[in-house]
Amino acid sequence: MSRLSIETPGRAQTVLGGLHRDMGRRISASQPGLCPVDMSLNFLRLCHAQTCGKCVPCRVGLSQLADLIEQVLDRTATKETIDLIEATARVIADSADCAIGYEAAHMVLKGVRGFREDFEEHAFHGRCICALSHPVPCVSVCPAHVDVPGYVALVREGRYSDAVRLIRKDNPFPSACAYVCEHPCEAQCRRRMVDDAVNICGLKRFAVDHGEDTPVPEKAPETGKTVAIIGGGPGGLTAAYYLTLMGHKVTVYEQRPKLGGMLRYGIPDYRLPQEVLDRDIDYILSAGIAVHTGVSIGKDLTMADIQRSFDAVYIAIGAHNDKKLGLEGETSKNVVSAVELLRGIGEGKAPDFTGKKVCVVGGGNVSMDATRTALRLGAESVTCVYRRRVEDMTALAEEIEEAMAEGCQILPLQAPARIEADENGCVTALWTRPQHIGPYGSDGRPKPVAADAPEFRIPCDYVIVAIGQAIEAKPFEAVGVTTQRGAIQADLSSAVPGLDNVFAGGDAVSGPATVIRAVAAGKVAADNIDAYLGFDHKIHTDVEIPPAHLTNSPPCGRVNLKNRHLDCYCGDFTLLKEGMTLEEAQQEAGRCLRCDHFGYGIFKGGRNTEW
Ligand SMILES: Cc1cc2nc3c(=O)[nH]c(=O)nc-3n(C[C@H](O)[C@H](O)[C@H](O)COP(=O)(O)OP(=O)(O)OC[C@H]3O[C@@H](n4cnc5c(N)ncnc54)[C@H](O)[C@@H]3O)c2cc1C
Ligand code: SF4
Ligand code: SF4
Repeated sequence: MSRLSIETPGRAQTVLGGLHRDMGRRISASQPGLCPVDMSLNFLRLCHAQTCGKCVPCRVGLSQLADLIEQVLDRTATKETIDLIEATARVIADSADCAIGYEAAHMVLKGVRGFREDFEEHAFHGRCICALSHPVPCVSVCPAHVDVPGYVALVREGRYSDAVRLIRKDNPFPSACAYVCEHPCEAQCRRRMVDDAVNICGLKRFAVDHGEDTPVPEKAPETGKTVAIIGGGPGGLTAAYYLTLMGHKVTVYEQRPKLGGMLRYGIPDYRLPQEVLDRDIDYILSAGIAVHTGVSIGKDLTMADIQRSFDAVYIAIGAHNDKKLGLEGETSKNVVSAVELLRGIGEGKAPDFTGKKVCVVGGGNVSMDATRTALRLGAESVTCVYRRRVEDMTALAEEIEEAMAEGCQILPLQAPARIEADENGCVTALWTRPQHIGPYGSDGRPKPVAADAPEFRIPCDYVIVAIGQAIEAKPFEAVGVTTQRGAIQADLSSAVPGLDNVFAGGDAVSGPATVIRAVAAGKVAADNIDAYLGFDHKIHTDVEIPPAHLTNSPPCGRVNLKNRHLDCYCGDFTLLKEGMTLEEAQQEAGRCLRCDHFGYGIFKGGRNTEW
């Protein structure tokens, strides 16, 4: 008999491995609105099942903690019980031998400190306060609360125009979002419990690409009230659209020659073609909105004039100023900001990078757009320099992968140190300081730390800086608008504190974010401006949603959109992603579990048909 033998995982181990994966998917698909105390207890039990049993704090302490939390849920706990939960968790965290114990105790500590009021509500009143008005996971997580199961069901039935009409109840930018939305709704799609999230955004694209033009809904009778919108980006135009439907007379002021904001002057055409954006804008304007382009508030008109002339004002100016690196050599010729570069292209002034070496600094989505755009402008090489690791980049993983697949290089763990220029002041190189990854910071991400290694020289002809955007709020400060950490201050209703008829939202308030967050802010502003003007208009739709049927839906792969084949990227700004085929759209729509009808959806009130 041999002394050693090849070890293969036993059947139980293999099955358990699969169960772990299923559980991981299930936890990440947890819908918003679950009882946090109940979840804490169950996480704790899961952690307790992992204990090796060697040390007492972990083996015994975790089960004591579970008993105490159970008392909270049984309503037999007192204030002292909750204090005891905190004290016990602290002792276990300090004394357990290994991460199995102390991390489990940390989880309880975070919970009892982070949502103590939920513990108290259960213990003292026997009720859960995690009520949620949008019980369907994808609808809750979409910032504009678009009726996802409704439009997915309509796509499945081939009713594409109705799908788009339904989306427009909550989001007047269905086309732009179908092409570039970062689709947070998919992160918690319940289908992940079965296999993978439904491609919600891809199905929206199928609907907008196949739907036919429909007229805008009937407007409410004229109210005689006037509203000025400053900024013609997605946030401003969303507010303008809904306020017009509510019967108010709306005027949009936009400083650039065309409407669209960052959708036109930021996002490159290979991701969002201008004609796709124009579909949304033409539809919005067909509601009857007055537009003054080429008018900058602060230069051509003052904010005080606007505030005086209108009953209400919505400031949605976005974040268009660039942020500086603050490094030696930054004023050299051919150092450009990403927003400046992309805006120039949007205005038809594309630079020629033929044969040039380009360095891009930054790790977000804008840096990926600048990187891939530089390649399309003819650059011989494009290197994106980032001070953290690739996995720490805030750009979407898909954008990073595609940039690399197109031939761009990502150089992680290099912090820009200075920019070298020749005797004519033109960039010749970017010098970087090598980093290594260090301890986690308060933002929950590992921080880069200067490595004990010499500075690194990257020869280049252009440096594109993509490290964030700032807000130009000066013209608005004159009437009392205040800023904090570079963003306009507005409360959750969008009202600007201390000013009677002024509201603000979108990137200007949140800082650089996403299209759908700007749309959601515009929707909130429209609702509250309407109330401020003394009305209670409702936005609704007459689209009928197909009934949900109980069907068997076995695990099935998710349909992802594919890139079209390209021999050469140089000069090619035409749309890269291909939409789904009919066959794919049907299959993908069929994967939706109709959470509006099954599960919590039906218990917690089904869908919101108006707002
Ligand atoms: C390169 C790039 C790529 C992006 N990619 C994505 C993406 O893929 N997906 C996604 O969801 N989001 C993306 N975003 C973010 C998204 O574009 C923004 O979050 C969104 O456009 C913000 O909308 P907004 O209406 O608040 O502001 P903006 O879109 O910035 O619009 C503000 C408008 O106000 C105008 N304005 C400013 N000041 C004045 C003034 N004083 N007078 C008159 N008009 C004024 C501006 O000209 C502009 O048109 C990207 C952003 C950039 C820069
Ligand atoms: S707008 Fe974006 S987040 Fe909302 S449902 Fe569509 S893809 Fe999802
Ligand atoms: S399965 Fe359908 S309804 Fe449920 S979360 Fe996913 S997309 Fe939404």
